[in-house]
Amino acid sequence: MLGQRRLYATASRFITSARPTNGFVGAIGNTPLIRINSLSKETGCEILGKAEFMNPGGSVKDRAALFVVEDAERKGLIKAGGTVVEGTAGNTGIGLAHVCRAKGYKCVIYMPNTQSQEKIDLLKMLGADVRPVPAVAYDNPNNYNHQAKRFAESLDNAVWTNQFDNTANRQAHIETTGPEIWAQTDGKVDGFTCATGTGGTFAGTTRFLKEASDGRVKSFAADPPGSVIYSYVKSKGKEMVRGGSSITEGIGQGRITANLQPDIELIDDALKIPDSATIHMLYRLLDEEGIYLGASSALNVAAAYEMAKALGPGKTIVTMMCDGAYRYQSRLFSRKWLESKDLLGAIPEHLQKYIAL
Ligand code: PMP
Repeated sequence: MLGQRRLYATASRFITSARPTNGFVGAIGNTPLIRINSLSKETGCEILGKAEFMNPGGSVKDRAALFVVEDAERKGLIKAGGTVVEGTAGNTGIGLAHVCRAKGYKCVIYMPNTQSQEKIDLLKMLGADVRPVPAVAYDNPNNYNHQAKRFAESLDNAVWTNQFDNTANRQAHIETTGPEIWAQTDGKVDGFTCATGTGGTFAGTTRFLKEASDGRVKSFAADPPGSVIYSYVKSKGKEMVRGGSSITEGIGQGRITANLQPDIELIDDALKIPDSATIHMLYRLLDEEGIYLGASSALNVAAAYEMAKALGPGKTIVTMMCDGAYRYQSRLFSRKWLESKDLLGAIPEHLQKYIAL
């Protein structure tokens, strides 16, 4: 039998914070920073991924969901029993649905009717009122975002959280993600890269790390095909090249959102990551590290790998692992789907054993 003290010594390497959190919302953030050993060894850099899939709602968007709701509370826009309305097809809705249940608000989610049944079912199971509407472009008044706004305006005690242009979203990353990365690396971070959906994560984290390091930390925008951020950064704001598409969900942007705008001058460079590199990295991380990630995270890690090569050995590069593969596995691990996207060839023979569906 191990004595009490021996038992504690054995257990203590697993203990980081022993204190209970204040409910669901208290468990958001403070995610681990995982050293990606294989890529670090290969590049001679420290390549670190922030494990956002370990947030209680399963993604980086829990942080923004909490901040936009608490910002509305502080401004008196919503009171007990009120309704939170958002236009979203993904993780923001899931984060909001959790936060609303935890805080006692109703949650209404407008989404384009092209979304998978899995997503609709999950939001319903989390207590959200899901309203699929025809998938029309942003400039059409019936676009899901405009419908969300109008619906919130038609109710008393309701708020449209407007994730794209509500800067409480980037504030979440100025106040949580950035400081966590700084503390977890003892301020020794040299580079940060990630992709843009709303831009909240990339812009807010960049802002904090630039200020904390007096501008020393380099920030590279990672961009999937079809998104304008790469061309905008490369041309110093003169061009926005549109066209193309990507398998990555939750990232890619066609404009400079209000969350990105204040920090656009801080971006040092941009990296365009093709889907073939993303899917290869996704399978590599599973095989070499046992890390099971969604495609936006795999793109981010592929960008960190490119950034390490660009900055040279000895540097510490941080990126975001936004969510896990669980929400996408019927696509990312399906041979038929990979073939339909012409991506089977991007996965080397020895990694194809993971294609289970
Ligand atoms: N990855 C995934 C899977 C997401 O759902 C999102 C949010 N749309 C992002 C990345 C991008 O985060 P942000 O909105 O902060 O730019």
